[in-house]
Amino acid sequence: MSSTEQQRVILVTGANKGIGFEVVKQLVQQPLIKSNDILLLGSRDAKRGQDALAQLGSPSNVHLLQLDTSSDESIAHATDEIKQKYGGQLDIIINNAGIVPKDKSIQAARETFATNYYGIKTLNENLIPLLRENGRVINVASRAGALTLHGVSKDLQQKYTSSTLTTEQLDRLVEDFISAVETNTVEKIGYTSELPLLPYGVSKAALIALTQIEARQWSNAKKVFVYAVCPGYCSTDINRHAQGSRPPELGAVSILHVVNTPPDELENGAFYQDGIRLPQIYADDDKVREAIERIKKLSLSM
Ligand code: NDP
Repeated sequence: MSSTEQQRVILVTGANKGIGFEVVKQLVQQPLIKSNDILLLGSRDAKRGQDALAQLGSPSNVHLLQLDTSSDESIAHATDEIKQKYGGQLDIIINNAGIVPKDKSIQAARETFATNYYGIKTLNENLIPLLRENGRVINVASRAGALTLHGVSKDLQQKYTSSTLTTEQLDRLVEDFISAVETNTVEKIGYTSELPLLPYGVSKAALIALTQIEARQWSNAKKVFVYAVCPGYCSTDINRHAQGSRPPELGAVSILHVVNTPPDELENGAFYQDGIRLPQIYADDDKVREAIERIKKLSLSM
């Protein structure tokens, strides 16, 4: 049986609402998805996941996978469930679950990294070995990551974008940042405190860097592809449905573009939005100022 005839298993994390929910909804409707393909709708809360399934009309090929991506225990449990109930093989992992810090506390910064960076790293370590040949991982990042790196020291820019960066070195950059948030010394170590949601931006910059490392690491071991995607500024709970944001459906289209485009038309490890490759560091000063103003307005309303 060729791989195109096989049943495929696709996981979307944080899919009970927002952009993740739209991704599952569009996948259900895609002609590329066959009726025997399995879509795993990830939700940290079982009830919210069940409600989302019901909202989709409970299609027979969509199953709830309870998964809190910030918890090692929950990741281990979900990995076992994939092995036991779904044949232990995956084709596409969409790491969509993400949060913004709920306030300026160190606890909120830690929670943000636990979900947006460490959770994805751990989940990928568990699940990429289960990916079939030509499998894909999509890490849902944000242009906020590229914006954040525009404002950091040249030394940090060089470290985040180094083609030899290791996960250990990246973890160290993240830990140094979190310690600096705790001691109120982010400026001293080269970050700008001008961005109100700085821990969010740094978590997404780290995720974009992690994507490149994972693409490098895994392409040596097996034929899998890892991409980072920005869904664009979409109206969801994460930004309290901010004015000027686009429908979450378009965020899902941006993610699915990278799911469906042939790998020879994409750069393994790269960062995309709406099918267009984005830089790891924003270079356009006007766009940076515009984006900073938008984030400032957003954080004032939080
Ligand atoms: P929403 O807040 O609408 O949805 C976030 C989803 O992630 C929810 O299902 C939420 O579950 C889930 N989630 C949060 N933390 C965890 C966790 N620890 N474990 C499992 N699930 C979790 O936001 P969006 O749909 O907008 O965000 C989706 C992704 O897109 C995020 O990664 C975000 O950073 C990114 N993004 C969004 C942009 C936007 O403008 N909306 C712009 C750029 C990037 P629950 O309901 O239980 O809270």
